[in-house]
Amino acid sequence: MIDKIILNIHHSDDYTDYLFLTAGLTNKRIIPMLDPSPTELMDRLDGTTLVVDCYSSGRNPRKNESIASYNQRTRSFNVLSRYYLAEDGSIDATQAEMARTIIQDRLEGILLSDDNLHEVYRRYFPLFWKKRKTIYADPRMFYTKAGFYYSPLFAYVPLGVMLKAIEDNQDLFRTWQGGGCNCKNAPMIIDIDDNDEGWYDDAWTLHTWCPTCSSRREIVVSEVIYYQNCIGKTYSDFVSNYGLSSLSLFDVVEELSIASDR
Ligand SMILES: [Zn+2]
Repeated sequence: MIDKIILNIHHSDDYTDYLFLTAGLTNKRIIPMLDPSPTELMDRLDGTTLVVDCYSSGRNPRKNESIASYNQRTRSFNVLSRYYLAEDGSIDATQAEMARTIIQDRLEGILLSDDNLHEVYRRYFPLFWKKRKTIYADPRMFYTKAGFYYSPLFAYVPLGVMLKAIEDNQDLFRTWQGGGCNCKNAPMIIDIDDNDEGWYDDAWTLHTWCPTCSSRREIVVSEVIYYQNCIGKTYSDFVSNYGLSSLSLFDVVEELSIASDR
């Protein structure tokens, strides 16, 4: 799970520094740092931080080469400053804005990807479960995208529908196949994940969580039709033309965390 991106900006020229510094300005989960020392960088890191190196190149662009490109393997952005910075120092603001937009969209795409949201959902499930009444009462939270694309429905299943399906079918969403603990009540099934890595074509992973001792476990199964039907029914009960909320799952976590501190 990634919930924070640090832009490690390697100084090139003042204007490019400024461009990177302002690329994630509207998203507080994107944190720019200009030439941080290793200690400064380490201080901001935790297990859920992605560090993206930001470089600039002054060479001439090749034909059709993008003004800003992200390399997933090296986790780095490279911008071609020739596009917006002329040798006499004059700036092409339109081109610079284009680079900024590409960078911001790509970074937000990483944070809000289905896989990442799915991991956020699983990690914060205990909070969502505890605060489910608050979520049911607030359409912005209820209809937030939680990374579930369910192919039988050809649709995204929002957070509230998942919680409702689990709450209204608690016998089904319990596992007796062991949840890694010996508590009196069986652990809950909180997620059904298809293994789209392609290793097990028919296999699904059930993620469990025990509300009593908080232990978690993954169970591989080949049949999930009961769960799918159940989620599909709940989906049709609650989803009309509302669409998905513009509030992100990260925002929901934050609002609920603040509320629970009170
Ligand atoms: Zn337990």
